[in-house]
Amino acid sequence: MEAKESCGVVGIISSEPVAVKLFYSMRTLQHRGQESAGMAVFQDGVSCVKGMGLVHEIFKKDDLQKLGGRAGIGHIRYSTSGESALHNAQPVVVSTAYGDIALGHNGDIVNADVLRKELHQKGWAFITTSDSEIIVRLLANAISESGDVVGALKSVMRMLVGSYSLVILVNGEVYAVRDPYGVRPLCIGRLPKGFIACSESVAVEILDGTFLRDVAPGEIIRLGKTGIKSYRGAGSRNPAHCMFEWVYFSRPDSVLQGRNVFRVRGNIGEILAKECPVDADMVFPIPDSGRAFAIGYSTESGIQFREGLIKNRYVERTFIMPEQEEREASVMLKLNPLKYLVKGKRVIVVDDSIVRGTTMRKIVQMLKSSGAKKVHLRIGCPPIIAPCYFGIDMKTRDQFIAAEKNLKGIAKKLAADSVGYVSIDGLVKAIGLPRKSLCLGCLTGEYPMAVPGEKQREQRSLNGFAKY
Ligand code: SF4
Repeated sequence: MEAKESCGVVGIISSEPVAVKLFYSMRTLQHRGQESAGMAVFQDGVSCVKGMGLVHEIFKKDDLQKLGGRAGIGHIRYSTSGESALHNAQPVVVSTAYGDIALGHNGDIVNADVLRKELHQKGWAFITTSDSEIIVRLLANAISESGDVVGALKSVMRMLVGSYSLVILVNGEVYAVRDPYGVRPLCIGRLPKGFIACSESVAVEILDGTFLRDVAPGEIIRLGKTGIKSYRGAGSRNPAHCMFEWVYFSRPDSVLQGRNVFRVRGNIGEILAKECPVDADMVFPIPDSGRAFAIGYSTESGIQFREGLIKNRYVERTFIMPEQEEREASVMLKLNPLKYLVKGKRVIVVDDSIVRGTTMRKIVQMLKSSGAKKVHLRIGCPPIIAPCYFGIDMKTRDQFIAAEKNLKGIAKKLAADSVGYVSIDGLVKAIGLPRKSLCLGCLTGEYPMAVPGEKQREQRSLNGFAKY
């Protein structure tokens, strides 16, 4: 798939220095963003190091040793709001009479423009174009007025519309905050000598920690050296966990809302085989994104699983390249068919999702020119027809191959012999959570919260709209 990813966050408190732990957990969450990364630690004030690129390119051993604090937060970013530049890298740090506050944000604030305008009119100045700066400035203002961090967080949560999983470092304490819909993931774990809050459970595991639970929608958690404390933040609504986290974003070894990502993808593959059967000689994945789905498809259909595309693991992911031409060229750099395997064969190629379809078309062409007799595409995410406003970079409708095409039209555009997508019901069943607790906005065009110009899920009256 070609959608860009959102971000990853982590916050750690410990009786030992946290910088190295933050580094490893950020490396573990690197799949959530490769554009920039940063960490802030507290030791007589906040020290922050940020840079463009991958985590291991930014942080050197000396930097980590100098950051001696016992509480800190980390952030890895792919920009979904604000341009790609160092000044938009996170954590965002602001100074207040109460001390420095550092914040890392995963998500998108839907009413950011309205809030920014209101604050501008009050004379506030912003350094970045990122919506995360709005959150931290609102928070700094509220904390300066009251000195009460939890009360300030509650009041800021009441102002925000959108998705936000936050880690916040203030006065040597770490807070984890999840929006009332729980759109983006956030969980907490116990470490051998402290506590962690992070986007995905896998970051707890690699620090030899114990996963405790997901942060509940609308919950504020304060991490202390001896324990955690939970507060109810903004009133929790119907949850709307992003279905895409299971389909694509999260690591397969993570567990979100009690559902292992690899297992969900396997379930989707099995359902896909029932919903979209086709006679063929072999099933193979687009590595690595389609593997779990393809295993499920093969298991259910009885068609043998093979690795027919070999991946060059040392080429960066395609979406890093901005230009279409470069992106297409990089497909060939990244993937190569096993010609002896595919020659004269009818193959089913399975992937997680298709957004624009340009990469997939190139892959089908490569398989056909390697001698494949038939190429059938099976996709583990229902057709994406509408934008995402909550932290995934899929903003304009005209980029979606599925927006106006029927299956035959899509297959033709992709040069494939057939295309089949799992149904929305099939996806929901595979995840195993009630449909009403998932965000399916980009599949249905109905969103869990009010977005200007868009239909709201279960909208009962005009009064249901947020006023902005
Ligand atoms: S609109 Fe789609 S990608 Fe965005 S949060 Fe909802 S399900 Fe996820």
